[in-house]
Amino acid sequence: MTAPARTRSSADLIRAEEHVLAHNYHPLPVVVARAEGAWVEDVEGRRYLDLLAGYSALNFGHRHPTLVREAHRQLDRVTLTSRAFHNDRLASFAERLAALTGTDMVLPMNTGAEAVETGIKVARKWAYEVKGVRGGRATIVVAAGNFHGRTTTVVGFSTDETARAGFGPFTPGFRVVPYNDTAALEAAVDESTAAVLVEPVQGEAGVIVPDDGYLTRVREVTREAGCLFVADEIQSGLGRTGRTLAVEHESVVPDLILLGKALGGGIVPVSAVVGSREVLGVLNPGEHGSTFGGNPLSAAVGEAVVGLLETGDFQRRAAELGERLRVGLARLTGRGVVGFRTRGLWAGVDVDPALGTGREVGERLAREGVLVKDTHGSTIRIAPPLTIAAGELDEGLAALERVLTD
Ligand code: PLP
Repeated sequence: MTAPARTRSSADLIRAEEHVLAHNYHPLPVVVARAEGAWVEDVEGRRYLDLLAGYSALNFGHRHPTLVREAHRQLDRVTLTSRAFHNDRLASFAERLAALTGTDMVLPMNTGAEAVETGIKVARKWAYEVKGVRGGRATIVVAAGNFHGRTTTVVGFSTDETARAGFGPFTPGFRVVPYNDTAALEAAVDESTAAVLVEPVQGEAGVIVPDDGYLTRVREVTREAGCLFVADEIQSGLGRTGRTLAVEHESVVPDLILLGKALGGGIVPVSAVVGSREVLGVLNPGEHGSTFGGNPLSAAVGEAVVGLLETGDFQRRAAELGERLRVGLARLTGRGVVGFRTRGLWAGVDVDPALGTGREVGERLAREGVLVKDTHGSTIRIAPPLTIAAGELDEGLAALERVLTD
C-alpha cells in the first residue's frame, strides 16, 4: 500500500507526481503540506513566503479564520443540494454580491473558465434576442494576449500557441484585436457584435495595465455599437488592484462582470457572472446550469468573502501595500529589473534576461524561501495575499534583490 503523504519526502512525492500525473503543469519543486496567512510550509518543515497567492485565489491569505469558520459551520449543516432545490444560503450570497458589485443579478458557477463560457453564452443569446443579430452570426471581440481559461472555446481565441496548438477545431465567432488599441477595437465592432470581452488588466500576459482611458473608451465603443462590455475580473477583481473591481479605476460599469478565484476564499471553487437584469435575464430554465454552481458550501464561503470585502479594508491594504511594492520595484530597476507594471498589490516584473528566465528566477527565489510564478520569458508575477504584513512584503523584496544582485 502507498504510504500516507506525510511520511514521504518532497523528492519522493515530486517523483511520484511526475510518474502518475498528466504533465500539464511544471510546478516549482516545493511540496506544500501546510499553510497559514502569507506563509506555506513544505513536507520537511521549510517555510516559504507566498507571493503568488494562488493566482489571486488566495487574496485573503491561506485559511483566513473567518472563511474557515464559515466553511466549517456549513460543513456541519448541508453542503450540496444541486439547483433542483433551493438552499438557504444562496439568496443572501447573491444579494450581497450584487450589492457589492453594483449589479442586479448573479449567476453562480464554479471555475473561472465556466464563468467565461457563461458570459459568452449569455452575450450571444442577448445578441439574438435583444439586439436582433441574425441567428448564428453573433461575434465576440477579444484582445490579443488574453487569458480567459482552458476550455476548447476559450483557448480557441487565445493568441498563445502553447495554449491552443493541437486542440482545434475551435468555436467560430471571435475576432481578436490588439489589447489597449481602441482604434482596432472600433474597427472590429459592427452590427453582428454581441460583446467585447477583455481583462481590465491582463494578468497572465504579465500584468499588462492598459493606458488610462482605455476602459472608458471600451465602454463608449460598446455603447455606440449597441453591444455588451464583458469584463473578465476573475483575476483583477475582488480587491487585488486596490478597488473591489479593477474597472472602478476608470469608474466604468460593464454590462457583465466575470468573477472567480478569490470568490471562493481559497477554500472552494466559486465563480459568478454578475450584471444587469436586462442582460442576465435572457436565460430561462434549462438553458444553462451546473450541478455544483451555487451549492450551499460555496454560497456560505462566497458570502463570507463578500463580507470581508464590504469592510473596504482589503481594498485599502492592496492600495497601500501596492504603493510599497511599486517603490520597492522602482529601487530595483536597473539592478536586475528592466521593467515592471503594477496595479494595486499586483506586479509583472521583467527581469534582465541575462540573469535567467522567469522560471530560473522563480527557482532561485524558492531557494531563498519566497514563492512567485513566471509568466512568459523573463517576466515574473507578484500577487501576495492582501493580508500580507508590510514587513513580510519587504522580506520578499529583499529576497528578490539578493537573487538579482548577488
Ligand atoms: N480569466 C482570467 C482573467 C484568469 O486569470 C483565469 C485564470 O487564471 C481564468 C479566467 C480561468 O480561471 P480558472 O482557472 O478558475 O478556470
